[in-house]
Amino acid sequence: MPPPVCAWIGLGAMGKHLAAHVHRASAAAGAGACAVFNRDLEVGARHAARHGTNHCSSLEEVARAGPRLLFTCLPTSSEVEEVARAIGPMLGRGAMLVDCTSGNPRQTREIGAFLEGHGVGMVDAPLSGGPAGAEAGTLSVIVGGEEAAVAEVTPLLDSFAKAVTHVGSLGSGHAVKAVNNTLNSAHLLLAAEGVACLTAQGIDPRVALDAINQSSGRSLQTEVRMIEEVLSRRFKYNFKLGLMRKDVGIGAEMCADYFPGAELMLHVQQVVNAAEDKYGGAADYTYLARLVEERAGVEMKGPTK
Ligand code: NDP
Repeated sequence: MPPPVCAWIGLGAMGKHLAAHVHRASAAAGAGACAVFNRDLEVGARHAARHGTNHCSSLEEVARAGPRLLFTCLPTSSEVEEVARAIGPMLGRGAMLVDCTSGNPRQTREIGAFLEGHGVGMVDAPLSGGPAGAEAGTLSVIVGGEEAAVAEVTPLLDSFAKAVTHVGSLGSGHAVKAVNNTLNSAHLLLAAEGVACLTAQGIDPRVALDAINQSSGRSLQTEVRMIEEVLSRRFKYNFKLGLMRKDVGIGAEMCADYFPGAELMLHVQQVVNAAEDKYGGAADYTYLARLVEERAGVEMKGPTK
């Protein structure tokens, strides 16, 4: 079978790296350049100049490139729906939308049903690992969709992933991702709260983290994020607080539907919402720790090495 022609929509903090990986992998397999489209056209033109991708200035132009696999990496499922409704009817039958957005499973199933009416398939493939993992090609991808569709897209997901996990039917990837990000926020908030409490009583936050990181309370947040973003005072992991608010909101919506007695996920949502109300959606999500510091009246500083 000839290699699939690919297209990528959304060249933000994540998408710009992933489009370059997919372009290199599909070009190496003998397909033409990956078509790229970004709402701010300058960004798309720069991507083409840097990576050799095929810059398209409209969705019509993307459709004319004839992609079999169309990737999206947009802020929320609402933008994905807007794009899918516009371009879906222009894609050939048998094409597939691969949505790398951290989306809402309910909306994803609705988009999938709309596309199915036009002979277009869909897979949800949200990401974990941040912009650095996207650039290095070492992301974790959590996939939802039918077996055959997932098998078709996996070789291209492999171009930017160290792990691709198929978790269930369409929308399941987005459901698992929402829980993952609620855990990410919860772990950061708890680590920040605990270490702030230690800092307030005169214990060096770096020494405290070193001890915890040799003990059973450690997590990615105590081992990496607290040190590299908080103690360094950098607060620039490059994942927007507004996007985290969206993800924990999806988690809370799922609790309302499937586990109405759940408490902790809803509590995490309240604190994330408070941080976003205070610092704005464009602030880095590590400002969650800043909120904790303000509440505790301490600053957690220390060496990063
Ligand atoms: P960014 O905000 O950096 O990029 C968003 C992209 O979407 C930009 O290309 C933007 O275009 C485009 N866009 C925004 N609104 C529209 C619209 N109405 N129509 C068309 N295009 C639009 O986001 P990220 O790359 O950080 O995140 C993308 C997705 O990946 C999100 O769902 C996020 O939750 C998820 N994610 C992010 C991670 C991270 O660490 N950053 C990690 C894992 C998942 P323009 O340039 O014109 O604004």
